[in-house]
Amino acid sequence: EQAVKAGHEILENGGNAIDAVTKSINILEDSPLFNAGKGAVLTHDGTAELDASIMVGSNRDAGAVAGVTNVKNPILLAKAVMENSPHVMLSGKGAEEFALENDVELVNPSYFLTKRRKKALEKVLQDEVTPNNSSASVDIDLSDYKFGTVGCVALDKHGNIVAGTSTGGMTNKRWGRIGDSPIIGAGTYADNETCGVSATGWGEFFIRGVVAHDIAARMKYSKENLADAAKQVIQTEIPEMGGD
Ligand code: ASP
Repeated sequence: EQAVKAGHEILENGGNAIDAVTKSINILEDSPLFNAGKGAVLTHDGTAELDASIMVGSNRDAGAVAGVTNVKNPILLAKAVMENSPHVMLSGKGAEEFALENDVELVNPSYFLTKRRKKALEKVLQDEVTPNNSSASVDIDLSDYKFGTVGCVALDKHGNIVAGTSTGGMTNKRWGRIGDSPIIGAGTYADNETCGVSATGWGEFFIRGVVAHDIAARMKYSKENLADAAKQVIQTEIPEMGGD
């Protein structure tokens, strides 16, 4: 509610959608309740590796970061990549160096860790060791495992649509795994002619389905309305591939 109100207030006062989206997402990243920023889900090694992206519908400007471990608000770094670099996506150490140079707030990686996420990782690891132990799998609360990515889409009074997404990805991810959230066209997309999309779901399928862009493309080329396009992609295309 705080996040929605903060973003809405900016829009109501004639502010721009970039500020509304980043403000709303900052609040969600700072809250331990969501899988983004503080309280993000943990990797196999027990660390938080964060992904985020933002896209502007008027000119399809975009910025993204992947696998950062010490940036307090990854969405602000994604915005800085969009506004202050010639690139769209930065990752890992390089992205963190860029954060330092652009005065984006850094924190000790332990800032992101919460008891709830540590417990969720422990349960998943335990279940990996004893896959037939049905009580272990029943114990895993799905909301701790893969839900809680945050996103925001805003349309401002100037007619501009902006979409942003921020996440810790999926519990127990390894090998520098990156999901759909920082990938423009997969987890985030905005185009004033059609729509803005911020996705949450099983990232591997969202990447393969190029979900966010597919929804916009259906509206643009097949003249589907937003509800039908989103429904077709989320309830038919992705499940047919085996995802959700
Ligand atoms: N889409 C995110 C990812 O795969 C996770 C999520 O939305 O829950 O990284």
